[in-house]
Amino acid sequence: MTDHNYDVVIAGAGIAGLTAGLLSARAGRRTRVLTGPALGGHLLSIEHIDGYPGFPDGIAGYDLCPIVQEQAVAAGAEFGATSVTSLAAHEGRWRVTTGEGELRAGVVVVATGTTSKALGIPGEARLRGKGVSHCASCDGPLLRSRAVGVVGGGDSALQEALTLARFASRVIVLHRGTTLSAQAAYRERLRDHQNLEVRTSTVVEEMLGDTVLTGVRTRTTTDGTETDLELAGLFVYVGLTPDTAWLNGTLDLDSSGGIPTDDAMRSRLPGLFAAGTVRSGSVGRAASAAGDGATAAVAADRYLSDGAWRV
Ligand SMILES: Cc1cc2nc3c(=O)[nH]c(=O)nc-3n(C[C@H](O)[C@H](O)[C@H](O)COP(=O)(O)OP(=O)(O)OC[C@H]3O[C@@H](n4cnc5c(N)ncnc54)[C@H](O)[C@@H]3O)c2cc1C
Repeated sequence: MTDHNYDVVIAGAGIAGLTAGLLSARAGRRTRVLTGPALGGHLLSIEHIDGYPGFPDGIAGYDLCPIVQEQAVAAGAEFGATSVTSLAAHEGRWRVTTGEGELRAGVVVVATGTTSKALGIPGEARLRGKGVSHCASCDGPLLRSRAVGVVGGGDSALQEALTLARFASRVIVLHRGTTLSAQAAYRERLRDHQNLEVRTSTVVEEMLGDTVLTGVRTRTTTDGTETDLELAGLFVYVGLTPDTAWLNGTLDLDSSGGIPTDDAMRSRLPGLFAAGTVRSGSVGRAASAAGDGATAAVAADRYLSDGAWRV
């Protein structure tokens, strides 16, 4: 019979959860990593991770994450392809309810990351997956030589626009603000692509098309002009929401839904840690998420050794 008792259960297998799994298993703790819907998380769909140590030319998330998983498995971590649906404290340990039954753990590390925000405009729900996407490297190649739009003005939007410029005939970045907030390196790279255009002060009001996206209706905020643009794809990067709804009041969250922690990734509840972008104040980079995972695993090991929770 399977033993469902673990030292450490990790909810999430993005780079934060994978790194926490690796270090926890290396510390000799019986560790289970629950992957949720996507082993690799957001990185899985990123073709070129910028700024990750050790890879000066970038690396694809779908190459990096399986390597870290293999490393974690070699160290003894067990993986389960299921989601955590709730947590409850019970006699100094955690009861972890998953899609495949209940586990018990001395420590839980929440590394469930974020979900891309929707625009919440007419046509969006109907056309999601039918031209409306949050993943340029997944859906960009299907739109080769077509015109596509990108909504947003931050790092993610520009990085994905640069990926799309390799496939699409034309990429139009639609940004509601007057200036792009993305880092200078991305703004400078826009100039290398003649098929890439930026329209600021532009709001997307409606997605058009019955069964597939055929275009969008935009409004210019300066003078209210409405324009219909013909587009075969629209990629939306207008922010991220921490994946914490499933915690359902187990602990207090910040106003954005993130989990407040101290420097050791400890939440306010004994034995409950958070790592990566699900955490309040995360800087949102892959390297910082991996660092959070490592810190949580080391702090969890100490907690399991001395039982103390000094926040
Ligand atoms: C378009 C885009 C481009 C980016 N480019 C870069 C870049 O170039 N360089 C860089 O450093 N950063 C980049 N980032 C940021 C980077 O992707 C994140 O910082 C990093 O992926 C966060 O990792 P994470 O493990 O915290 O969360 P995530 O990657 O969000 O992973 C969350 C994990 O939790 C799982 N999960 C969710 N709910 C549950 C549940 N209930 N139970 C169990 N598991 C669950 C998911 O399946 C997933 O495995 C980019 C982000 C985006 C959106």
